[in-house]
Amino acid sequence: MTPEIINLIFPNPLPTPAEIEAKYPARQLPDGAKVTRVAPSPTGFMHIGGIYAALLSERVAHQSGGKFYLRIEDTDQKRKVDGAVELISNSLGRYGIHADEGVDKDGHDFGPYAPYTQSQRKEIYQAYAKSLLEKGMAYPCFCAAEDLDIMRKIQEKTSVRPGYYGKYAKCRNLTDEQVLENLRAGKPFVLRFKSMGDNNKRLIVKDLIKGDLALPENDIDVIIMKGDGLPTYHFAHAVDDHLMGTTHVTRGDEWISSVPLHIQLFVALGWKAPKYAHFAPLQKSENGNKRKLSKRHDPEANIMYFWEKGYPENALIEYLLNLINASFEDWRRNNPDKNAFDFPVNFNKISNAAGALFDFVKLNSISKEVIAKMSAEQVFESVLKWATEYNTPFAERLKNNRDYVIQILNIERNIGKKSRKDLTKWEDVEGDLTYFFDDLFTTTKTEKLAILAPLSESDIRTIAQEFSAVYQPTEDKDTWFAHIKEIAEKHGFATDMKAYKENPTAFKGNVSDVAKVLRVLITGRDKTPDLYQIMQILGVDKVKARLSV
Ligand code: GLU
Repeated sequence: MTPEIINLIFPNPLPTPAEIEAKYPARQLPDGAKVTRVAPSPTGFMHIGGIYAALLSERVAHQSGGKFYLRIEDTDQKRKVDGAVELISNSLGRYGIHADEGVDKDGHDFGPYAPYTQSQRKEIYQAYAKSLLEKGMAYPCFCAAEDLDIMRKIQEKTSVRPGYYGKYAKCRNLTDEQVLENLRAGKPFVLRFKSMGDNNKRLIVKDLIKGDLALPENDIDVIIMKGDGLPTYHFAHAVDDHLMGTTHVTRGDEWISSVPLHIQLFVALGWKAPKYAHFAPLQKSENGNKRKLSKRHDPEANIMYFWEKGYPENALIEYLLNLINASFEDWRRNNPDKNAFDFPVNFNKISNAAGALFDFVKLNSISKEVIAKMSAEQVFESVLKWATEYNTPFAERLKNNRDYVIQILNIERNIGKKSRKDLTKWEDVEGDLTYFFDDLFTTTKTEKLAILAPLSESDIRTIAQEFSAVYQPTEDKDTWFAHIKEIAEKHGFATDMKAYKENPTAFKGNVSDVAKVLRVLITGRDKTPDLYQIMQILGVDKVKARLSV
């Protein structure tokens, strides 16, 4: 390309590549330190897969003594949504996925390779596009959308591979005169990369997750700069990953087929390509089949789903680590008290199969374990924080009854193996507390009797009255239980389980049925945590009021 052409394409002064390199010098990091990034587009949707990718990239970098950064890839301005950067930054922050450099929730850059938002790096990309033009490795293309459409239809009809390559790359062979004429006439143009590849040849790509892949070389003259002067993803990411010193590109495997092009771009620009680690997208099982977790069909694809339901952040992190490396579970068993971020993540332990299966049964069981390890105060503060955002009336109730609720949450908590594991997420807590508040306790007498059927109403009343008469909240649990046993014996309920099992018809039931009467009358449920403690917390007046049927 002649200087005249280049000046017509880039009439404004641009920094030279050497000036840019001087401004963004190579990182000084110890040997083996990895530099990774997460590079979302600000579309206003945070996919759980994005958190998975960020966590994997962050762990790999920090465990090697390297750096992890956030880059906002907004070159497709049509897809940009207000508040999207804030959502990305808040999501990482919420899960403790610490970016050393990037963009904060207010859109401010931090770190030495700023700006980290691609739309603010236009001049940088243009400088390198200009250098490719100078080296004859790029050219302006004047094909209109309609021309490209016609070309695509011809390719479809004649069953040839689609794309702008070979004889279909019309503008590749324009003479300098033709280019000048078009530019002078003000014809709109884009810049294309002059690919040096041969589609019949294979390139061996060493992927750290997928292993060695033999991929066809790229021969498509892709667009590197659009009509609006902004780069395409392919070009921008190569420039940025070079300047920002990325050593390992960890990203979804939808990009695998682009690797030959990306490597070509690095070569054309005279740079060393980073290493690649492509992971499969998270899957969901549906009717026995696995499919990609979908933004459109699966509410749990959206990270906000987990905020609304109130899954503890560290439960989700533990779950995602378990999806990243299946050895997490063993590690957790051997290191019950360690921070999940201490788990060593390994590329080579990531399954390269169809993709990890997102499964609520597993997530819920991890979440129950995580909550079971928390103190009642920690649970209270977490629920309050959640409710303040998602259930304000409940938040008010919590604030007005702090000590009472902490006592409730403390039932059977932190008592070793038998600690209660009934809480999965903060959303469930309100429903679990209903019988501790008269205004929420709405179970009717008919409903209670139905749960206790076939026991007669008069038996129920007798048990309730007799217990109520002897109940002393100051008595210890053994004495409390002795009262229940006495009532059982007196009214034909077995207290000796062996005798009961041998001849169940000889009894009205057994001692647990008597306890069940008390439980159902007091709580409206047949399953609760320890009834003795529930009564203690409710207080003698409420207990007696509920027993008067
Ligand atoms: N902006 C790209 C995406 O959101 C990033 C891909 C990459 O990590 O290189 O898919």
